[in-house]
Amino acid sequence: MMHFQKRVLVTGGAGFLGSHLCDRLVSQGVDVLCLDNFFTGAKSNISHLLDSPNFELIRHDLVHPIFLEVDEIYNLACPASPIHYQYNPVKTVKTSVMGSINMLGLAKRVKAKILQASTSEIYGDPKVHPQKEDYWGNVNTIGPRSCYDEGKRCAETLFFDYHRQNNVNIRVARIFNTYGPRMHPNDGRVVSNFIVQALTNQDITVYGEGKQTRSFCYVEDMIEGLVRLMEGPDDFIGPVNLGNPAEYTILQLAELILKLTGSRSKIIFQPLPQDDPLQRQPDISLAQERLGWEPKVGLEQGLEKTIEYFRTII
Ligand code: NAD
Ligand code: UDP
Repeated sequence: MMHFQKRVLVTGGAGFLGSHLCDRLVSQGVDVLCLDNFFTGAKSNISHLLDSPNFELIRHDLVHPIFLEVDEIYNLACPASPIHYQYNPVKTVKTSVMGSINMLGLAKRVKAKILQASTSEIYGDPKVHPQKEDYWGNVNTIGPRSCYDEGKRCAETLFFDYHRQNNVNIRVARIFNTYGPRMHPNDGRVVSNFIVQALTNQDITVYGEGKQTRSFCYVEDMIEGLVRLMEGPDDFIGPVNLGNPAEYTILQLAELILKLTGSRSKIIFQPLPQDDPLQRQPDISLAQERLGWEPKVGLEQGLEKTIEYFRTII
């Protein structure tokens, strides 16, 4: 049968960000193909979509080529939390590099538009603050975070080379720390760790002295930014920072989560992991100008929704 409906592939679609993106696209009425190998994703994240006529689930490992006919690709497949991406670092590099080559090859063949979920980690432990897109970063090539950071950097290189060499219509988003419902409760990221610890009356594990900073974006805001970038003008391909510029120390985050949960957990200090970035804050003026985008949900409000979610699952 002739097909007029736009078809959108979301790799990593059963993960945290991917499942929210699938929700958004399914509700827009486009045909959504969700591809995942379920390494860190879960069927429960997308089970509510399985009955939708415009949603399809494909179990596949992106390290291997796949042949599909689609109009747009959001390339999100890659473990995102340090404990997950460090579990099998060689596989993490393969997913970023070979996964990108496979998806760019697909985009080239079927003339699809393709968006890469890059990361603030490409700036490494930044010497420039806040981070702007023209900063080249300060990244260790041989450390425990390198499989993720360098894999994502190489993916950006591949995107721009396929664009220049093969005219592929690309978008590159540099995503800063994002949180919200459906984060994996054991994925070791700071927001999920602290909330789970607070709700189960375990000690809150602050690494180092908790003076390092992060800027946390609520998932709904992030999905809006990704969709705007994909649907935006073809002469605005990025890379563009997406994140919430409100910067907090990790200790401030711990205290805020204790306040919002009313928990009596106590804060304890544990060693700071190697190469843990000291400070991170996106400069989002480019996204504001070119996409008319900025986050709307403040940390307290977003944490409340996230805490509510974790209460239902633990
Ligand atoms: P996540 O771990 O919840 O989702 C990643 C998904 O990719 C999972 O469903 C996983 O099963 C799947 N996947 C992993 N390897 C795969 C492979 N080889 N083949 C097929 N599927 C595979 O993480 P997330 O937070 O949703 O992150 C999604 C994307 O956004 C990632 O690319 C991540 O690097 C990027 N990102 C996220 C953040 C954040 O704060 N959440 C920040 C920066 C960048
Ligand atoms: N962190 C912490 N306690 C935890 C988990 C993380 O203090 O239980 C710190 C971690 O050292 C880092 C920050 O929180 O400085 C954010 O960590 P996360 O793994 O969430 O993201 P990333 O370091 O990749 O930004």
